[in-house]
Amino acid sequence: MSMRRRTLLKVIVLGDSGVGKTSLMNQYVHKKFSQQYKATIGADFVTKELQIDDRLVTLQIWDTAGQERFQSLGVAFYRGADCCVLVYDVNVMKSFDTLDNWHDEFLKQANPADPRTFPFILLGNKIDIDGGNSRVVSEKKAKDWCASKGNMPYFETSAKEDINVDAAFLCIAKTALANEREQDIYFQGIPEAVTETEQRGGCAC
Ligand code: GDP
Ligand code: MG
Repeated sequence: MSMRRRTLLKVIVLGDSGVGKTSLMNQYVHKKFSQQYKATIGADFVTKELQIDDRLVTLQIWDTAGQERFQSLGVAFYRGADCCVLVYDVNVMKSFDTLDNWHDEFLKQANPADPRTFPFILLGNKIDIDGGNSRVVSEKKAKDWCASKGNMPYFETSAKEDINVDAAFLCIAKTALANEREQDIYFQGIPEAVTETEQRGGCAC
């Protein structure tokens, strides 16, 4: 008899407004790209099923609804995240400069058990624009930043041309899964520890 456990992994996507967070998710989950700019509306998250080795994994990918402009995403957005995806636009320096803020904001709000080992991934998006001629952040600069954050994985992507999108999200799923396993092992001995964190926060929606 084969019994397979389905694992739910919560992934949140952060970065400045306009860098392509929603487009990357749409490309990954729906295989669609739209040139039109519209603030995200509707569901808080989309899901995608995938199999990694012998595990069935449901990625629950949370998008912002444009509130990232005001940096007020609320505690429910961050709560229980298994992986944080940071996105910047390789053609916009400011979107790279604010990565530190997003990184710190995540750690502050999500408050993971071990901030040093919590899985982050960086995506440098819109590499298709102008054949790369309008690019202002070099791959080296991005990789140096990742190295300074404890070797964060890095992918250069295009949501428009569907470059590296599947590869990036597969890495995201694997990294989150690896972290989840470690947590399972850690919590096995101390189940009470969970209740304490559950009680903090405000509403339970
Ligand atoms: P968000 O605010 O981070 O969610 O960004 P959106 O996904 O809404 O994208 C902002 C704008 O950039 C939209 O007009 C998209 O069509 C466009 N865009 C997103 N990703 C890419 C990309 O990889 N290449 C190009 N050329 N445009 C993109
Ligand atoms: Mg969006």
